[in-house]
Amino acid sequence: TSKERFNNECVFYQAQLLTEVEERFQMEEDLKIAIDKEQFFLCYQPQVHLLTGELSGVEALIRWNHPKKGLLPPNVFIPLLEETGLIVEVGEWIIKDVFESLRNWMDRGYELPSISINISAKQFGRQNIYNLIDYANKGKRVCLQKLNIEITESAMIDFENSLDMIQKLKQLGLKISLDDFGTGYSSLSILHRLPIDYLKIDRSFISGFDKDSKVVIEMILTMAKRLNVKVVAEGIEKQEQIDFLIKEGCDYGQGYFFSKPLLKSEFEQIWLSK
Ligand code: C2E
Ligand code: MG
Ligand code: MG
Ligand code: MG
Repeated sequence: TSKERFNNECVFYQAQLLTEVEERFQMEEDLKIAIDKEQFFLCYQPQVHLLTGELSGVEALIRWNHPKKGLLPPNVFIPLLEETGLIVEVGEWIIKDVFESLRNWMDRGYELPSISINISAKQFGRQNIYNLIDYANKGKRVCLQKLNIEITESAMIDFENSLDMIQKLKQLGLKISLDDFGTGYSSLSILHRLPIDYLKIDRSFISGFDKDSKVVIEMILTMAKRLNVKVVAEGIEKQEQIDFLIKEGCDYGQGYFFSKPLLKSEFEQIWLSK
């Protein structure tokens, strides 16, 4: 009967809900031990000068080597890290790890133009990034001009506080990028008040690449030029995208066309030289 079916479906639904809750709980537990067990690592994706293809920088992207589920991308666990507050601890680890790599590359005589670190909005509001960087640098003494902090527009919701933090980071010599640009809602109103160095055009406009996307790209480039901000295009996979971007005056790019995110050793071998 339909009543039976209804009941069955309810039971099924409840069971499913339960597994989802359990799953989430398990993931939280797993995350707590992931730091101690060193299951996180950073991948490195090159950024290039579009005209020459030469390395202009590199973005550090976190991965989680889960003991049972295998390699997990950040979209799967960053939200959970944020909800649980564990992002603070992981955020510290990321900065420490980047400083270690930078120091190590410097010691071995490698030239690296710059390195970008992603800081999520929640992290930016909750964690004193300035203190973290300052502290990390007391131990490692790297060139802070080479550090680039990538934040998204959502980090600017608490505008005055975030602006304050950005200004302090800039005083240390860091560069600031506005990531995923064009997908947020506040783009225009905040842009001219922000002392940022780079805009990263969101991948969706590059991969879409239809008439509308192209118009958005053109507008971002025009605006950026006026505001004296450099532009990086994310998610480049095809030559025709490069041709268009160069024609429109975009200087920097990143995407599978040039390289996927690489293991540190691969990145060193392929992209760094002395
Ligand atoms: P994002 O900062 O915008 O990073 C770019 C994402 O696009 C990366 O995904 C990268 O692998 C991917 N990508 C780059 N080029 C291409 C391409 O040509 N085609 C395609 N299909 N994808 C491309 P990933 O590594 O999965 O990272 C996703 C997001 O997770 C990042 O977006 C960033 O918001 C966040 N994230 C990554 N690492 C960290 C981190 O260390 N800390 C924080 N807070 N967030 C991170
Ligand atoms: Mg980024
Ligand atoms: Mg991005
Ligand atoms: Mg993105």
